[in-house]
This record gives sequence, structure tokens and C-alpha cells, in this order.
Amino acid sequence: MTARHPLRLASDAGRSAPRAAQSASLQDSFGRRHNNLRISVTDRCNLRCTYCMPEEVVFRDRSELLSFEEIARFTEVAVRLGIDKVRLTGGEPLLRSELPKLVRLLAAIPGLRDIGLTTNGVLLAQHAGALFEAGLRRLNVSLDTLDPDRFRKLARRDGLDRVLAGLAAAKAVGFHPIKVNAIALRGVTEFDAVSLARYCRDNGFELRFIEFMPIGAETWNRSQVFLADELLELLGGEFGPLVPAADQDPRAPAADYDYADGGGRVGIIASVSRPFCASCNRLRITADGKLRNCLFALDEIDVKELLRAADRNADESIAEAIRRNVWNKWPGHEINSAAFVKPTRTMHAIGG
Ligand code: SAM
Repeated sequence: MTARHPLRLASDAGRSAPRAAQSASLQDSFGRRHNNLRISVTDRCNLRCTYCMPEEVVFRDRSELLSFEEIARFTEVAVRLGIDKVRLTGGEPLLRSELPKLVRLLAAIPGLRDIGLTTNGVLLAQHAGALFEAGLRRLNVSLDTLDPDRFRKLARRDGLDRVLAGLAAAKAVGFHPIKVNAIALRGVTEFDAVSLARYCRDNGFELRFIEFMPIGAETWNRSQVFLADELLELLGGEFGPLVPAADQDPRAPAADYDYADGGGRVGIIASVSRPFCASCNRLRITADGKLRNCLFALDEIDVKELLRAADRNADESIAEAIRRNVWNKWPGHEINSAAFVKPTRTMHAIGG
């Protein structure tokens, strides 16, 4: 990709990190340290959520995707530079066959302290046991509504019963914490937030809302976002006050709130109304091996080429690519500014 944002001069293809930054942990030119890597394992999905991807998609050929060995090798290099947390995503990661094998390879990397997975849950009931056995403990399951008709309308597929069965299976197997991710989208959230919150309180799941972002296939308008403040008012009106969590991680994208009655926790990822770019610690690798320093990045670095090169110093080239990608990260995504430029990839092809 070669597109350039008019106001964002930093380019992934740009300058190498200066020597001082090279010896330190993964740091960008604004002083943000990076320890968190999102790994997409496929661009395929068994749902077609309207806010995420188009109905008609040409998926990448299997040969274009990184193998598990390539993902593990890339992660090993990244961990040596300071990454200690990874999350597997997609597309729908459970469509990638033998995923527990990858979890096992990652779990064996010294220094990697946290492996998570984000899934739509449709195939979770059949895979929960093997994933847990492989070493996965942290699970986010996306679920926007408990209403079968609204589920079908949003996901353009059936599947609510299977997602609920997946969540029950994951809980029975021992996953903890289980977070339920719901889109914060006007026309949906005002009808579903309370029932989702009740379901999560009853089951010991942590509910997290993600404000609708301009990264799907359809047009985006700020007025379509169900904002964090509206959510707090809606849930507070039903369940009583929500208080900011005392153990809030300042680098986490979600602002966490606890129900004052002890009924659990709600997180809100307010990328639109309360952008958290200033504390961003994440980078991403797509299923086809492109390194992205922001969900909204317009430039990428191809690391698949480096992983497949017959070069004995390839690990050093990969490390240099990671450092350069991080160093050149821009200050923020500019969603709320007229200068915003939407990336050509939609969410399913990046990895949410
Ligand atoms: N298929 C998996 C799933 O559904 O969780 C993983 C990939 S999905 C892209 C990851 C998350 O991105 C989901 O929770 C989804 O709701 C969220 N997402 C997709 N498009 C979005 C958008 N335009 N704005 C906000 N969140 C979005």
C-alpha cells in the first residue's frame, strides 16, 4: 500500500529507528512503548457482520497466509524486542484448522506471558477444550445481541444459538476471564445493551462495548456510534451506578467500570469518543504477513517476504522491520477529523 494521509507524514516505509531507540524496548518516536501484538490467522469468516466486512469477499489463497511456524518465528523475534502479550484474531480464527497447534507453539516462547483469542464463538463449542488444553486462557467472544432476528440482520447469517453454546462450553472448560465484545452501534445497542449486560452478569462474563469505527465496508458517520457516555447512562439507569475500576490498566484500550452492587465489570473501548492513541501499545500482523502499527495504518511492511527469504540474517531483518514500523507510528488515527483517510483493508482483513 502506498496511500498517504495528508497530515500524517510518518511513513512505515520511512526512517529507521535511531540507535538509542534500537537498544531500548519497542518504542515509537512519541515515546510509546509497545508490548502487545495482534496476530490475524485468517481473513476468512463464517459471519458477514455489516459493520465489519462486505457480503461478497474474495479471500486470500491459503498459500498467501503465514504458516504456524512462520507466525511463531515472527513472534519469537517480536518477543525478544519487548512484546509479551499476543492475541489471535481474524477473520474468524477458529476457521483456521488445527489452531491449538499454534497456541502450543506460542505458549513455548520464553517471555511471552499472555496469549488471548478473539472469536465470534460460532465454532467455539467444538474447539474450547483443545484450545484450553493447548494453553489458551484468555478469551473474547463477540456477541452484539441476544435477539435471533437482530443477530441474523447484523451478521447476515444465523448462529446465535451456536455462539451461546460456545460461551457455555468455554465457561465449563475453565476459561477465565471470558469477555463478551459487543459493537456500540446506534439502532442496535440501545435495544440490546441491557439484556447483554444481564446475561453477562448472570454468567460471570465481562461485557465490553466497542464504539463503531470507520473500518468496515459500509459508510461511517459519527452519529451512528452509540457513545460511551450514553452507554454508562443506559446501564447505570438499569443496574445502578457504574464506578471506574480501581485496578484500571492505563494502557488498556477499554475503560473499565464496576457495578456498584458487585455484579461484575463493564469495559468500554471508546475509540471514537475518547481516543486512546496516546497510550497505544499495539501492533498488528495480518494473516498474509503485513505489519501494521495502527488499525487505521495506510502503510504496511511485508514481513512474509523476510520470513520466506533464504537469508541467514533474516531474523535481524525482521527485527529491524518491527523496530522501523513501530518507530514510524503516527500520533493518532484522526477518526474525528476531516483529514481521516480510511484504509483500503476492512476489519476482517486486518484483524480486530
Ligand atoms: N471473528 C472474530 C470475532 O468476531 O470476534 C475476530 C475478528 S473481529 C474483526 C474482532 C472484533 O472487531 C469483533 O468484536 C467485532 O465486533 C469488531 N469490529 C469489527 N468491525 C468493527 C467496526 N467497524 N467497529 C468496531 N468494532 C468492529
